[in-house]
Amino acid sequence: MPHSARASAVVIGAGMAGLTAARALSKHFGKVTVLERDMLPAEPAPRTGTPQAPHAHMLLAGGLQALQALFPGFEQDLADAGAVKVRTGKDIRMERPGFDPFPIRDLGLDIFSMSRPLLEAVTRRRVQQTPNIDLSVRSRVTKLAASRDAKRVEAVRYDSEDGSAVTLEADLVVDASGRCGLTLQFLEELSLPKPEETEIGIDQAYASTIVERPLDRGADWLGNIILPAAPATSRGAFLFPIEKQRWLVSVGANHGDAPSGERAEFMDFVKSLRTPTVYEAIRDARPLTDIVRYKLPCSTRRHFERLEFFPAGLLAIGDALCRFNPVFGQGMSVAAQEAVILDRLLTDEVPMDRLARDFFAAIQSTIETPWGVAVSDFVYPATRGVRPADLAQRLQYGMALTKLAAQDPEVHRLTAEVQQLLKPQTALREPALAARVVSLM
Ligand SMILES: Cc1cc2nc3c(=O)[nH]c(=O)nc-3n(C[C@H](O)[C@H](O)[C@H](O)COP(=O)(O)OP(=O)(O)OC[C@H]3O[C@@H](n4cnc5c(N)ncnc54)[C@H](O)[C@@H]3O)c2cc1C
Repeated sequence: MPHSARASAVVIGAGMAGLTAARALSKHFGKVTVLERDMLPAEPAPRTGTPQAPHAHMLLAGGLQALQALFPGFEQDLADAGAVKVRTGKDIRMERPGFDPFPIRDLGLDIFSMSRPLLEAVTRRRVQQTPNIDLSVRSRVTKLAASRDAKRVEAVRYDSEDGSAVTLEADLVVDASGRCGLTLQFLEELSLPKPEETEIGIDQAYASTIVERPLDRGADWLGNIILPAAPATSRGAFLFPIEKQRWLVSVGANHGDAPSGERAEFMDFVKSLRTPTVYEAIRDARPLTDIVRYKLPCSTRRHFERLEFFPAGLLAIGDALCRFNPVFGQGMSVAAQEAVILDRLLTDEVPMDRLARDFFAAIQSTIETPWGVAVSDFVYPATRGVRPADLAQRLQYGMALTKLAAQDPEVHRLTAEVQQLLKPQTALREPALAARVVSLM
């Protein structure tokens, strides 16, 4: 039963963070309003507010678990919508330097592969079926409004579909806009300190297209990943099976190297990859979309947890809080895991004036593992940011762990569970395992 201080909540943005946050809030607030600036398509389709959506989006097992917890029956919904069930370790071939492919093993973990618009459409449908959630499209939030004592957010202002400016009061506002601009602007208006930011400059460039996936390939794999031979080259590829018997192919590079948006040049880039697998798979496949490109200058982590004061009635979630290097496929899964944490805190009756502090503290252990993976970005000399003092040792440890995982199926499974955000990175530093890894360094 919603609490009296929890009459209404507003979520800014109907991306994966906003949708999952709205579901979490709907269990605890009388009414939840999601304000989205875009017109949302009825069918899975790209839209302007999420320009990253045409690119390969992997939903990790940890994210799937979180979505299933928020929306019981979610896996079935995905399957019904045409998402492709894949067994980790087996169905998506992994090619990494020294292992082309990495030993193929059934790791016993099923995930789903689909386009990001399909995943978002399935999630959105579940949100729209939730009676106390109202999803307003073409509603661009322009400002957060403070209470008279300037200690809390008490409303949002937005431009509504019919062009009028609306003020909507709320007991809680969740910034899931992907960018955080509204929250930072609000802190500035109240002369409050902004969160410190950690940035890792990667200058990541993607190019993607969808092609027909032949039915009669005769291969025993559904998709393929090519990891680069870093630091000599940063060129890599994802070839993922998606709904309607198609492949989504995304190629990428960083620090100034970038795939072209012109098809012949795009294919030249694919041909230049470390192994020919993706090129050979798609060279005769019928293209179904244009090639789209995307550039991301850096990963950004905002340290809200370090602020001494943060206004009550406000939270940031998803990319607004922490934006990861997309090549590790973590952002949507982390957003869903954050929403599960929000649900848990509200179930525990955390008072509203403590919610932000407790939320920002509670999600740190969830962010730590995916953010820790980004340390491998420093293998490139051009990567900007504060290099860990023990970088060389960490990179060597990673390489030795990969060797051990290739030899030992149990270690392979453990590394997959960490990479899929089911276990924390500390599991890879347990003393018995660490001793075996160090012996290979
Ligand atoms: C190239 C690329 C590939 C990626 N691949 C993966 C992957 O494989 N796996 C993975 O998990 N993640 C991946 N990501 C990251 C993933 O896209 C995000 O982490 C994830 O979508 C969470 O985003 P979000 O909901 O916080 O923000 P977004 O997806 O950016 O959504 C924000 C929403 O807010 C709306 N909005 C913004 N401002 C306003 C406003 N003022 N008023 C109202 N609405 C507003 C926008 O229209 C949008 O709908 C990738 C990212 C990129 C760039």
